[in-house]
Amino acid sequence: MANVLILGAGYAGLRAAKLLAKHASQLTITIVNDHPYHYESTQLHEVAVGNKEPADITFSLRASLPDNVNLVVDTVTKIDRDQQRVELAHHDPLPYDYLINSLGFESETFGIPGAEENALPLIDIDTAVAARKHLEETLAHFSQSQDPDDLRIIVCGAGFTSIEYLGELVHRLPKLIDQYHLPADQIKIDCIEAMPKVLPMFSQDLADYAVHYLESHGVTFHTSTPITQIDPGVVHSKDTSYTAHTIIWTTGVQGSHVIADSGYAQKRNRVMVQDDLTVKDHPNEYIIGDVSAVPDPASGRLYPTTAQIAIAQADTAAHNIRAQVSGRTPSKFTFHSLGTVCSLGPTSGVAEINMLGHWKFKGVIVGPLKKLVNDRSVLELANVRTMLESN
Ligand SMILES: Cc1cc2nc3c(=O)[nH]c(=O)nc-3n(C[C@H](O)[C@H](O)[C@H](O)COP(=O)(O)OP(=O)(O)OC[C@H]3O[C@@H](n4cnc5c(N)ncnc54)[C@H](O)[C@@H]3O)c2cc1C
Repeated sequence: MANVLILGAGYAGLRAAKLLAKHASQLTITIVNDHPYHYESTQLHEVAVGNKEPADITFSLRASLPDNVNLVVDTVTKIDRDQQRVELAHHDPLPYDYLINSLGFESETFGIPGAEENALPLIDIDTAVAARKHLEETLAHFSQSQDPDDLRIIVCGAGFTSIEYLGELVHRLPKLIDQYHLPADQIKIDCIEAMPKVLPMFSQDLADYAVHYLESHGVTFHTSTPITQIDPGVVHSKDTSYTAHTIIWTTGVQGSHVIADSGYAQKRNRVMVQDDLTVKDHPNEYIIGDVSAVPDPASGRLYPTTAQIAIAQADTAAHNIRAQVSGRTPSKFTFHSLGTVCSLGPTSGVAEINMLGHWKFKGVIVGPLKKLVNDRSVLELANVRTMLESN
């Protein structure tokens, strides 16, 4: 029996475990994750503003994994590639014949001083809950302090996660204004972005739609404004400073620090994999999801890190391990993007879809489209019951 060890039960790891379990007669499968639950990281921004509870976007790993997959709840600290074993914080090291490394993403501060200490990232359930608590407590504090900065919110970055966060935030604000008796006209939301364009992955007309939608709900955009430093309550950019007591950090992600700690050749903790998703000279080591770097043959640039590509990579890695165990030739990874859906709160958004042609959508039609994408993800990773319970 070949021993397959999967690290991380996000989109990539969980999908790979479920696929391999269907053909497990020649395999022993173990998955390690630092929590006993899977969380839908594509919906963390909804928890971070309080439009959803953690229970709405998490489900039990044990309940969704097939019985023939062993689950170890622990933190991976290092991969000992020479000994082919993985070191854990609390258990004995786990050996492997085949490794699927899908440890996912962490916040990227780009070395900007103070970003880690003074801004709130959105990377897992704990950070999303912390961001919500901070937002609510800071707004509530205004009635005592009368400090205008308690009513100011800065979102750092204007990429996908920042825009989705802002969309949820402007949707939730009227309820928070009522709850804490806030002066609505004094609330100020600034979005600060180094690049000239908001939502760079979308065509200009859709990016403009998102900007106008958010501006009409009180957001001020500052593009071409690189953040140089963050002090407590202050974001600096060259000669200008912006003050706020809530600063959200959604500028980008890097891969898990375990990648660098384990001695891989990497950039921002992402490893350039071969076209079958293995690591060069290590045909039994697969790296997939946000810890991998895969060039798009069409553009030559790296694919963006998305749940969609993580799931597609899991399909290839699971297929290739089964092929290797059966003495067949592994396949090359190919990817056809189905498109991108960016929500602007629960009832609006922008989308570019690549199915039966290329389609652009904006406005209320994108709300149900996003829900469809989220439901499909839960259905693929958990089961019908979990999908119905999360609605
Ligand atoms: C707010 C937000 C919205 C997004 N929206 C979209 C979207 O609409 N569409 C899209 O395609 N993508 C979206 N993304 C990107 C998407 O979430 C990621 O690309 C995706 O989660 C990557 O999947 P993964 O399986 O590689 O890693 P992850 O989902 O990060 O999973 C990694 C898993 O490993 C576990 N883990 C991490 N470190 C350790 C350790 N040391 N030991 C043990 N376990 C560990 C984690 O707890 C987690 O369960 C969004 C991201 C964010 C933050």
